[in-house]
Amino acid sequence: MAISVVGHANPDTDSVTSAISLAALLTAQGKEAKACMQIAAADLNPESTTVLKRFGLQAPEFLNDAAGKEIALVDFSDLAQGPAGLDSADLVAIVDHHKIGDVTTNNPILFRAEPVGCTGTVLNKMYKEAGVAIPKDIAGGMLAAILSDTVNFKSPTCTEDDKVAVAELKVVAGVDDTDELFMEMLKAKSAVEGIPAKDLLFRDYKDFDMKGSKVGVGQLELATLDQVAAVREDLIKAMKEVKADGRHSVLLMLTDVVKEGTDLVVLSDDEALIEKAFDAKLEGGSMWIPGMMSRKKQTVPNLQKAFGC
Ligand code: MN
Ligand code: MN
Repeated sequence: MAISVVGHANPDTDSVTSAISLAALLTAQGKEAKACMQIAAADLNPESTTVLKRFGLQAPEFLNDAAGKEIALVDFSDLAQGPAGLDSADLVAIVDHHKIGDVTTNNPILFRAEPVGCTGTVLNKMYKEAGVAIPKDIAGGMLAAILSDTVNFKSPTCTEDDKVAVAELKVVAGVDDTDELFMEMLKAKSAVEGIPAKDLLFRDYKDFDMKGSKVGVGQLELATLDQVAAVREDLIKAMKEVKADGRHSVLLMLTDVVKEGTDLVVLSDDEALIEKAFDAKLEGGSMWIPGMMSRKKQTVPNLQKAFGC
């Protein structure tokens, strides 16, 4: 019976590519193993789909029930994040970078967890220790997973080991520019093509009561503002409709995650008040606010102050 290697529920790129990577390592070591995931390929998130396509990797197969099967876990060790029947599976290995979860085993197993930014980083070490060369396509997947989990090294979870792994894997994968790879993933994640303007406005939208005035604030996180250039007028039209429905102001934060700032689009009964709130001047209905990333921590508190809440 082949070992089914599986990552956590609602899989991210690390869970997907680590399942592929560990299955290939076990196979190279003479065991029978296959990569699995807890969803169908069609349900993979846009970032993971992009990564698999870019490196020519097959999506892991759907694993629905682990009961009675030989199972290896990657990127988690909590029963609640596993497939049905995990508590009655024959667990043979765990490779992870999270806190240790609640799985237990009847036999000694390979258990490798390290406090690094990504399971891909741990697997890169395991390949080296085993003296197994990482196939080019799999190296690409592992590389993408590390960039994703560490948010291109910006996450506080990122370690020196992750940077070393990226430096090694990019050579094997033939990727010259890892920033470009990260951007491709970010664009996939924040894609706006084909989505109606009103749905975009409401993708992440909240209304607030500012001293009796109703103020709506939406946010779109983008890899670059160019992503919404073509739909900007449609977005403003959608904002006008929403504002006409009894709101004092409607703001849309077009947040550039790479440049770390927000193009704040404003429709308001009192533009001067909004300008005062952010100490900036509106030009053509919007203003660039450097460093503005968070609605909760930056935009709303500034508005509350200006409205005298
Ligand atoms: Mn994960
Ligand atoms: Mn991970």
